[in-house]
Amino acid sequence: MVAKIIDGREVARKLRGEYAVRVSELKAQNGRAPGLAVILVGDNPASQVYVRNKVRACSDVGIDSKFIALPANTTQAALLQQVDDLNGDMTIDGILIQLPLPPHIDIRDVLERISVEKDVDGFHLYNVGGLVTGSTVFSPCTPYGVQKLLEHEKIPVEGANVVVVGASNIVGKPTALMLMSQDATVCICHKKTRDLAQFTLLADILVVAAGVPGLIVPQMVKTGAVVIDVGINRLPDGTLIGDVDFEGVRQKASYITPVPGGVGPMTVTMLLHNTIVSAERTLAASKR
Ligand code: NAD
Repeated sequence: MVAKIIDGREVARKLRGEYAVRVSELKAQNGRAPGLAVILVGDNPASQVYVRNKVRACSDVGIDSKFIALPANTTQAALLQQVDDLNGDMTIDGILIQLPLPPHIDIRDVLERISVEKDVDGFHLYNVGGLVTGSTVFSPCTPYGVQKLLEHEKIPVEGANVVVVGASNIVGKPTALMLMSQDATVCICHKKTRDLAQFTLLADILVVAAGVPGLIVPQMVKTGAVVIDVGINRLPDGTLIGDVDFEGVRQKASYITPVPGGVGPMTVTMLLHNTIVSAERTLAASKR
């Protein structure tokens, strides 16, 4: 068996085409495009690249982005004030704070200051908790991207054995919760898991988000499994690779995502989606 490669760039391109139409409709009805504020504190080079990509993606679909670059020594109070201003700004539908933040800033405090209705990254405690109760306002972008890829390929989740390798708050845990809410049987593994392979071999759908290049080799994958590689690892020569031995595992899986070009483009696309949904909700509320 040779896996079908799930082309995240192509899925993202299609979705972004649909989103551009929704943005035009919003502009026509609302007199303005949806607005996303992106705050970057400090000058972390990787963060600068991520922020640039997000701003560019916004302009591709017609979303107005407001990029706010703050110096690394910005105080917590000043950052909170900035968030308050954006919470009250009627032209802003989504607020994203690029992580990581400098160590003197309490990330939780800042994320929880964002209005839940504008928390398009889905990191506010309410949105995180909402993943458990099914009342989330915005789903976090990377897990949502994984879900959309499965949906696009019409891969059944209900009743499937899902194994998520990685238990972080931003990828592993929310992915597990989202797939569990679709009635998958979910198992989460992490770096203390003993004998990882005994779990991964059970997976009909294997989602890997550990940040360990080459962690998943063919012997750890059931024949016909769907393998979603969220990992992004930069090798010393600058090449990007995932957590899965792509060439080996693709001989055994039924579907596989490449790195780059799999989950990555979907993450930014879901940010655009959440911003548009936020603007649509605001418009609908204004008509009530
Ligand atoms: P993290 O470091 O916060 O968490 C990693 C998780 O993997 C932890 O739960 C850890 O216990 C687990 N882990 C580490 N080594 C392991 C091992 N040997 N076996 C089993 N589990 C192990 O990382 P994160 O923020 O969740 O990101 C994970 C990966 O996904 C990274 O490579 C990151 O770059 C990538 N990522 C990609 C996207 C995207 O858009 N594609 C978005 C976010 C993160």
